[in-house]
Amino acid sequence: MATDYYGVLGVAHGASDSEIKRAYRKLARDLHPDVNPAPEAKARFQEVTRAYEALTDPEKRRIVDLGGDPFDSGGGAGGFGGPGFGGLGDIMDAFFGGAATRGPRSRTRAGRDALIPIELELDETVFGAVKDLTVDTAILCTTCTGSGAAPGTHAATCATCSGRGEVQSVQRGFLGQVVSSRPCPTCAGTGQVIPEPCPQCAGDGRVRSRRTIQVKVPAGVEDGMRIRLTGQGEVGPGGGPAGDLYVEIHERPHAVFTRDGEDLHCRVTLPMTAAALGTTLSLKTLDGEEDLDIKPGTQSGATMTLRAHGAPRLRATGRGNLVVHVEVTTPTRLDPEQEKLLRELAALRGEDQPESHREAQGGLFSRVRDAFNGR
Ligand SMILES: [Zn+2]
Ligand SMILES: [Zn+2]
Repeated sequence: MATDYYGVLGVAHGASDSEIKRAYRKLARDLHPDVNPAPEAKARFQEVTRAYEALTDPEKRRIVDLGGDPFDSGGGAGGFGGPGFGGLGDIMDAFFGGAATRGPRSRTRAGRDALIPIELELDETVFGAVKDLTVDTAILCTTCTGSGAAPGTHAATCATCSGRGEVQSVQRGFLGQVVSSRPCPTCAGTGQVIPEPCPQCAGDGRVRSRRTIQVKVPAGVEDGMRIRLTGQGEVGPGGGPAGDLYVEIHERPHAVFTRDGEDLHCRVTLPMTAAALGTTLSLKTLDGEEDLDIKPGTQSGATMTLRAHGAPRLRATGRGNLVVHVEVTTPTRLDPEQEKLLRELAALRGEDQPESHREAQGGLFSRVRDAFNGR
């Protein structure tokens, strides 16, 4: 899970190196262990230092901007402290409960990811959009900045386990004494208790909040795809790093166009006469009105392709096509004059004789008849 390093330092995405340095120096002045003895300040200092390291190294920052985590070794949950992270890695492991199999576990844990569906019209998925999204998640409690302790108070060492986070019990069995340890029930294994919980968050270090964020939907997304917003998920217990927010695209069906990946399809119906004589149709595409030339003699089921009128390709350049399916309608309810004209046309084309139907079927009927008569 990637941390929002920009958020940790409180700078905007795209902040300059000097802005990042300034933000880091200011935070470090308040949080440095030499200045601030509170245990949560030390943890915050590590976090801030890590964010600084991530954003001042061009290669690491590139990974951050791609939505990744330069310190994530890919080793599963809590996999911070990857190669190249030196001594800080061990501290981070303990901090996030990754490799901390012994000793007290941190009160601070990483937040969960969140998933929110978003309904979009076809032109929004095709051309992209900026949407306001209401998000209801846990955010950092500003009263205690995640520590869970009431302002002016601090967490204290747990008296039950003396801060070890685990208690031991001795049992006598067949094999003699067996010593077993289990997490301390008083402090839930953290080694610390909060004598005076923060009134705002009741000691959790985070509060629920509804906020509106802007989501940039890239052009060409498809139904079911998810956009990841790094660090916009839930803040973890004890003010731990926020999870990611996934926005799942739900594309509303369109009245005219159906979508097949990057291609769009639509259907136009034409009177028989127009299909026979040819015509020009005005078609409302997503890009505006387009003239569609119907050639004389167009058959029902014919398709016409408007190149690059489909959806943009997400992972390549260019756009898909718009495929127009032509459907020719046969006139019904002819009035006497129309019927007379059609009969005349049929006579002129020699289509009024049963023989000509047979020819139109490729001689199928005559062959069937021949077989029937034993010829
Ligand atoms: Zn609080
Ligand atoms: Zn305890």
